[in-house]
Amino acid sequence: SNIYKQFSYSEKAQKALDRKPAHFINNEWVSPSGDETIAVVDPSSGQEVSQISEATKADVDRAVAAARAAFDDGRWSDLPPIARETMMHKLADLISQNADELAELEAIDNGKPKGMAGAVDIPASAGMMHYMAGWATKLGGDMIEPMAMPRGTVHSYVRREPVGVAAQIVPWNFPLLMAVLKVAPALAAGCTLILKPAEQTSLTALRMADLVAEAGFPPGVINIITGYGHTAGDALVKHPDVDKVAFTGSTEVGKIINKNATDTLKRVTLELGGKSPVVVMPDVDVASAGAGCAGAIFFNSGQVCVAGSRLFAHSSIFDKVIEGVAGAADFWSPRPSLDPEAHMGPLVSDEQFNRVMGYIEAGKKAGASVAVGGDAPSADGYYVNPTVLVDVKPDMSVVQEEIFGPVVVAQRFDDIDEVAKAANDTCYGLGAGIWTKDVTAMHRLAAKIKAGTVWGNCHGVIDPALPFGGFKQSGLGREQARQGVEAYTELKSVIIQL
Ligand code: NAD
Repeated sequence: SNIYKQFSYSEKAQKALDRKPAHFINNEWVSPSGDETIAVVDPSSGQEVSQISEATKADVDRAVAAARAAFDDGRWSDLPPIARETMMHKLADLISQNADELAELEAIDNGKPKGMAGAVDIPASAGMMHYMAGWATKLGGDMIEPMAMPRGTVHSYVRREPVGVAAQIVPWNFPLLMAVLKVAPALAAGCTLILKPAEQTSLTALRMADLVAEAGFPPGVINIITGYGHTAGDALVKHPDVDKVAFTGSTEVGKIINKNATDTLKRVTLELGGKSPVVVMPDVDVASAGAGCAGAIFFNSGQVCVAGSRLFAHSSIFDKVIEGVAGAADFWSPRPSLDPEAHMGPLVSDEQFNRVMGYIEAGKKAGASVAVGGDAPSADGYYVNPTVLVDVKPDMSVVQEEIFGPVVVAQRFDDIDEVAKAANDTCYGLGAGIWTKDVTAMHRLAAKIKAGTVWGNCHGVIDPALPFGGFKQSGLGREQARQGVEAYTELKSVIIQL
């Protein structure tokens, strides 16, 4: 039987696909100013299944004006914090109540298995919203005694205020989760916002817009427009009425955005690419470490900013670890996203398929050997087989550059200092995994590796309560945790002579 067969969509999902292209502004679906649309393609079949609007500058202006007015009249920021918290919990609950539909839409739009979206993306989105809701009632300032005035002559304090209107631009790898990760802290801080989901995957953000209205948010607080990055995204970044830009995506685009935001000195947070190392020490249980290393790269077809894409295994166990990863490749072999048996789906798009296959070819040409995979099944969707490359050299493009696909490059090492140096030998610094029972080695390496998050005997575990972000060219600032909310605030010192 053909495992790449087409699965039918549920009625609810079909209804979302049949939605007329529109933007969500002031809690209403508004007709786009132009007629241009962007095709929505199901990566499991390569078929166009819907269309979204391509926002113009006029649509961006309209959305920013709505967010600006909503911020300036205080309809959100001046509410009692408990009212904002409660509304955010309501939105989180609505996400949970619609989990099955949202997971299916994510599977149709992005290609990730519905089972994975249902187990990871959607509950993590609801959890992120609940967590951030709590901050609405817990943010505050400081009372500080000035150092140069006699005590009691001055009352001085520091207020924490929302930064204003936020433009939020997100990628296609975890569409709803990335959207919520942006929207939730802005709401908790009292900001209003314009969200632009990725042009490849806007369906769940649009569905969330319905839930925003249902939760009862005041109009203009959350505005969602669809469109391309170089047009709609660019207009948002340059808009004089936007106070803050939050972006997740490629390092290349992050640099452009950072430059463009400079003219108006917007506040900027950037979550960018990675080439995260996974270090396997000689003492591990090879079977579980091998399976862990496979999950670190093949989860979400490797389209994860913290994907463990560079595997460093100690020379004494290298072959066994590769065997372990190879053994797990069967489990991760790609299937259609709506197949209940799927653990890994296709890549998100034709473009991404060509990019990943191009890297595999470049690696082979440069002298890398294929230990597993290295090819694509013959099917209409954008499937790539789980791939392990060995015999790689540090300067190969497959070792230095973010592939964003199910491709891991494996290297040997003999001691900790050597592997720490090799692990740090890219322009990135987002995540790192260490597999060992040796606590000393674990903590030594955790301190030496330049990365925003280090995992021990696991990989990719993300928790809203812990700061997340990148060293070096993997980003600017931190999201999640207290710091993620504070990134949507300004500090104001007030000094009053008594
Ligand atoms: P991208 O950086 O091109 O796009 C991300 C978002 O930015 C999208 O919403 C896009 O419309 C928008 N955008 C693009 N150009 C813009 C501009 N000039 N101004 C404002 N907004 C702009 O990423 P991509 O095309 O989706 O993927 C390309 C590569 O980015 C991937 O192959 C991968 O290497 C990397 N990536 C990283 C992450 C991550 O989480 N770190 C996520 C997705 C992609």
